[in-house]
Amino acid sequence: MPEQHCPICEQSFDPQHSPSLPFCSPWCREIDLRRWLDERYGLPIEREEEPDFSRDEPAE
Ligand SMILES: [Zn+2]
Repeated sequence: MPEQHCPICEQSFDPQHSPSLPFCSPWCREIDLRRWLDERYGLPIEREEEPDFSRDEPAE
């Protein structure tokens, strides 16, 4: 019987009975999705702050 290892909970399961491959369950699939989103949002997507060079000009 073919078995697959769930990357989230690390349990072996029968992939033929899983609706959420490569995960063992929809629950694990959602956990993986949230991890992925957390990593994505953890990165700086846009830099709206630009360095203000005019402030570095020495006052005359
Ligand atoms: Zn799992």
